[in-house]
Amino acid sequence: MSAGLTDTAAITPGRIDQRTRECLWSFGLLLPAVLIIIGLASLSGVVQRELLLLGCVNIIAATGLGLFSGTSGILSLGHVAFFGVGAYVSAWFTLPAGMKSFLLADMPLFIQEAEWSLVASLPMAVLAAMVVGAVSGVIIMRLRDTSAVIASFGLVVIAYLIFTGAKALTNGKQSLYGLPTEQATWPVFIGALAAALAAAYYLKSTRFARNMEATRDEEQASRSIGIEPQFHIFLFWTASAGIVGLAGALFGHVTGVISPNGFYLEKTFALVVMIILGGYRSVSGCVIGAVVITVAEEIFRKTEEYLGTFAGTELAFGFEFPLVFGLTAISFSIMILIILYKRPEGVLGYREIAAVLGGRFGLGGGSTDEGASDYRLPTYAVPRDSVLETTALSKSYTGLKALDDVSVRVEAGEIVGLIGPNGAGKTTFINVLTGSLYASSGTIRFNHEDGTEWSAVKLARSGLGRTFQNIRLFSSLTVLENVISAVTVRTPGLSRPEAQVRAMSWLSFLGLEDKANILSRNLAYGDQRRLEIARALALEPAFLLLDEPVAGMNAAETEALKEPLRQIVSEFGIGILLVEHDLKMVMQLCDRIYVLNKGQLIAEGSPTDVASNAQVVEAYVGEETDHLTTHA
Ligand code: ATP
Repeated sequence: MSAGLTDTAAITPGRIDQRTRECLWSFGLLLPAVLIIIGLASLSGVVQRELLLLGCVNIIAATGLGLFSGTSGILSLGHVAFFGVGAYVSAWFTLPAGMKSFLLADMPLFIQEAEWSLVASLPMAVLAAMVVGAVSGVIIMRLRDTSAVIASFGLVVIAYLIFTGAKALTNGKQSLYGLPTEQATWPVFIGALAAALAAAYYLKSTRFARNMEATRDEEQASRSIGIEPQFHIFLFWTASAGIVGLAGALFGHVTGVISPNGFYLEKTFALVVMIILGGYRSVSGCVIGAVVITVAEEIFRKTEEYLGTFAGTELAFGFEFPLVFGLTAISFSIMILIILYKRPEGVLGYREIAAVLGGRFGLGGGSTDEGASDYRLPTYAVPRDSVLETTALSKSYTGLKALDDVSVRVEAGEIVGLIGPNGAGKTTFINVLTGSLYASSGTIRFNHEDGTEWSAVKLARSGLGRTFQNIRLFSSLTVLENVISAVTVRTPGLSRPEAQVRAMSWLSFLGLEDKANILSRNLAYGDQRRLEIARALALEPAFLLLDEPVAGMNAAETEALKEPLRQIVSEFGIGILLVEHDLKMVMQLCDRIYVLNKGQLIAEGSPTDVASNAQVVEAYVGEETDHLTTHA
């Protein structure tokens, strides 16, 4: 582990972090690849131009949908609403005035008279979709899991009803036709495709995407390092609405006709199949899914047409060849079933194309910190008068008082133990203290302020770090990204290389620097525990609440953790509340110890006092009490 906390060796930050590198490479690979496919298909003369343009539309729409669903983990069934909004708003401005006076006679005059180009209408379409996204996002951001999926589906239903009902704006159930298809030119579509992919990959490379993914993996842990989930869901929902709105605007100008039915269940289903097939956690996967489904849709349509020519012809014994319909929907359903069974995470899984190819050809991966050999931890000092204190804190569940009038005080620069037999209420205490649970009664004072009503996010941002009894790492993020997430919350102004170096310094301090680029879920148990501590330390907390930090560690790992814990107390003045069943460790490290039993404090004092307390010994009857007496 670290030789010292204040080494001043030269730091050479990596030029570019792994996530950005992967996004850049993926963009650089995918866009030319798509253009080459389009070029070859176009030159071959076999594929119609309209189909290729629709392919671009599908890629943009799937990219937008995947950007939200992939980063948030919420499979949205509602993005087709934004597709429709983009299509109608763009049509309002590009339809010839004569057509509008006929189809949309009740429209405001300035829209009636507008005859914009498709390009000029695109920003309006994107903006309108984002406004609808922002309004609906206020609701979506408060929901999770199934409720969020159902609410998103509700959005598409509401949008459909509005499209069909608002006759003055949409011509109702009738189609809006006469859109200028001649404006659907390749420069416009390729430009829009490049812009959408660039926007998606850019967003994916930002700390906002990393924070969103952290929340997707472990919401409670993300709050514990100060990430605000609602803000991130809102951000990605709204941004993705804009991208899908762009696709809708282009769509109308390929077909020349739009109607509410085009923005309902069939389109929703097709988009969902695209992103599930490719792998919706990856922008590259969504692009690949869109290409495959566009081609498949055409093949199924042609097959249906071909089979239709046999309809009514006699096969044998008076049986006639049936009229084939719904082949596309049935085939998509079967495809979804096969994918979900064989490869639930989609073709590309969770990775961008550069990461997939990177393993083979050295693209997009590479070292995170070329040239860096040693790291310097930030020099911060917790004010000496900092105090974390609870007064008569209680937490009740129905029929059970998990915490009963618990008053605990931890000062800066001390290690305080909180021990007690299983079910005593230790984890509940940490959860209440960190805002994961609200107290039934009592108060929490944090740095001389009343923090009883503070949220987990506010407490974390104010300097309360924690780890979890059941390890809660951001499993799909790398070891380094787990820590960078906390670094960027603590110091948002840091440049990417600076944040990377800061995170590496905490990893190095806990002996994890060699594992920086490994996915955290692949770490050994002991390393996972240390990573949780590194992540909490990256918040530069005043107080650190450790919930069984050595559970699952072997004796050597446990021993090795003691020194860094002592170091952070002596160097930074952090106050530690240590919940631990390893009584030997508690006795060796702690200045004072509180003992909980059945939700109540039964003892408090120095290790020696606690070890000789009869009530404590009784509470531990049947458990390992040797360490109480041996190491006090
Ligand atoms: P251990 O050392 O085994 O982790 P602990 O001291 O951390 O135990 P807690 O997990 O805080 O104990 O549990 C205290 C009591 O509260 C237990 O009786 C537990 O069953 C109960 N409890 C904890 N969480 C809940 C919950 N969400 N709903 C109802 N009861 C709960």
